[in-house]
Amino acid sequence: MEYGKETGKAHPGVCRKCGREGAEKFEKAARSAGVAFRESVGADSLTTFGGGGTVFRLYEPRDKSELCSLMRAAADVGMQENVFFLGGGSDTVIADGTVYTPVVSTHRLNRIAMQADGTVYAECGVRISALTVSAAKHGRGGFEFLWGVPATVGGALRLNAGAFGAQTADYVIKIERLNADCAETEWIDATEAEFGYRRGAEGFLLSAVFGLSPATPDESRALAVRYAAERRKKQPALPSCGSVFAGADMPAGYYIERAGLKGVRRGGAQISELHANFIVNTGGATATDFTELVNLAERRVRELFGVNLRREFVLLE
Ligand SMILES: Cc1cc2nc3c(=O)[nH]c(=O)nc-3n(C[C@H](O)[C@H](O)[C@H](O)COP(=O)(O)OP(=O)(O)OC[C@H]3O[C@@H](n4cnc5c(N)ncnc54)[C@H](O)[C@@H]3O)c2cc1C
Repeated sequence: MEYGKETGKAHPGVCRKCGREGAEKFEKAARSAGVAFRESVGADSLTTFGGGGTVFRLYEPRDKSELCSLMRAAADVGMQENVFFLGGGSDTVIADGTVYTPVVSTHRLNRIAMQADGTVYAECGVRISALTVSAAKHGRGGFEFLWGVPATVGGALRLNAGAFGAQTADYVIKIERLNADCAETEWIDATEAEFGYRRGAEGFLLSAVFGLSPATPDESRALAVRYAAERRKKQPALPSCGSVFAGADMPAGYYIERAGLKGVRRGGAQISELHANFIVNTGGATATDFTELVNLAERRVRELFGVNLRREFVLLE
């Protein structure tokens, strides 16, 4: 099946919430595809923020072929659009209570291969840090700007993760994703992905090929250390999901700080005293604590400055 502007068919990849009944229907399909899952997995082990509820079923395909079988089985029962792909969980907060949305963890899809032409192939579950280390061993560099960011290749591609004036899109040559009916995989050129500010490739992303620059391991390490030191100065060390809001004409943190919200707490969550655009988990924070602070920041910044903050995290419900 084709998708895109011509057909008007949206590509799947934006998950739609489903209830227990849907979750059980999906589970049956997953069993038929032979994919392992864990039951009632807590947010503490799935996301960097840590607070929140439990995932009813966490599917853990062992490789790309299992993942494709799972998604085909989901499509056969019309549930592919309910699926949520979870990478490093560093931009995701899991709602309190039980989340019935079928969550597919990509952590086992972690193959990296240096190719004869100097490009790097990486599956979606590869950590960006692992990609950086592996590329450096082969005399390539580029992703040092994300050193210290617990992102996977899939998450970085989906959100076009960036920092220090660089972004994921700068290094992508092509992307492999599931086609619209999840029947097969297809490669798209990076130019077709329409990357924008924190907006990346759509759909269920399986792997990518990156074009990195020549760099010795020492050069790569030195750059990574420099970027990590910059981060430590400006960003809190406590668990978080990174920046909560996207920048507008001014950084979101500027408005939140001027609204006097630095250090404000709800339960175990706090607007960071170090960087107002981070909400940290000081211990025992719930997703509700987190969203209350999000709502408060949005409301106060709108009232005081007439600015509508744009959310940069994903709330999995
Ligand atoms: C300490 C800290 C610092 C951070 N600093 C930065 C920064 O400097 N710059 C920046 O841009 N971000 C930053 N972030 C946010 C986050 O790391 C990035 O947004 C990252 O790209 C998320 O990757 P992930 O694998 O953790 O995604 P997840 O949180 O697992 O998922 C995020 C979204 O991507 C989707 N997704 C994940 N994998 C796939 C896949 N294979 N196919 C399709 N969709 C997929 C998910 O469904 C979800 O919608 C930071 C976060 C933390 C905790």
